[in-house]
Amino acid sequence: MKRRASYGPERRQMVEKQLRARGIRDSSLLEAFLEVPRHRFVPDKWVERAYDDGPIPIGHDQTVSQPYMIAAMVQAARVSPGNRVLEIGTGSGYQAALLSAMKAQVFTVERIPELADQAATRLDELGHRDVEVRVADGTLGWEEFAPFKSVIVGAASPRIPEPLLQQLGETGRLVIPVGRDYSQVLHVVTRRGDGYRTKRAERCIFVPLIGKFAWKRKPAVH
Ligand code: SAH
Repeated sequence: MKRRASYGPERRQMVEKQLRARGIRDSSLLEAFLEVPRHRFVPDKWVERAYDDGPIPIGHDQTVSQPYMIAAMVQAARVSPGNRVLEIGTGSGYQAALLSAMKAQVFTVERIPELADQAATRLDELGHRDVEVRVADGTLGWEEFAPFKSVIVGAASPRIPEPLLQQLGETGRLVIPVGRDYSQVLHVVTRRGDGYRTKRAERCIFVPLIGKFAWKRKPAVH
C-alpha cells in the first residue's frame, strides 16, 4: 500500500470536524492531535482509515479508540504539562503519544506483551522517550510512581478498581468506562482529601478491562 508522508490535511480535518465541532476545547490537547501521526499507530492495512471517525483494530482483539472518545477522556482528566499521568491499556500507544505531546509524564500499563512491545518501539521511534511502558495488570495501578494527577483507563470495567483510587493524588482525576460488556458510561472521579466525587459523563463502548479488580477473564459475547 502506498504510504503518504504526512497526512497533515487529514489531521486538521479530524480536529475540526470530530473534535472541535463536538465541544473539545482543551487547546494543548487539540495541538497534540494535530501533531501525533495516528496513521503510525495502526496496522498497515488500516493506514488509509487512520483518521476516520471510529475505532480501529490493532490485533489481539483490541482497538485504538475513536479520536473523539480519546479526546473526551483526556479532556475530562485535565492534563497539564509536567503532570504525572497513569494510563491503563497502552494498546497501540497512540493515546500515550498524545499525553506525551502534552508534556505530561506518562506511565502506561498494558497486559498483552506484544502490544506493549510494539507501542514502546513506536513511541521511541517518534521521539516520545519519556513514556514508561510496563507489562502488568493495570487494575493494580503502578504503586512505585504514585500518586498520579490523572489516571485514564482505556478499557471497560464492571467497577472502579480500588488501587486506582488509592493512587490518585490530592485533586487528582480518574476517568474510566464503567458498566456491562458492551455498554458503559464514562465515570470521572475527583479526589478531594479523603473523599471522592463521581460524575457520570457520556455512554461509550470499550473493550474489557481484564484483571484482578475488573473482569476476571474476557466476558462472553452476547
Ligand atoms: N488507548 C489505547 C487503546 C486501548 S485498548 C490506544 O491509544 O491505542 C485497551 C487496552 O487495554 C488493550 O490493549 C488491552 O489489552 C488493555 N487491557 C485490558 N485489560 C488490562 C489490564 N488489566 N491492564 C493493562 N491493560 C489492559
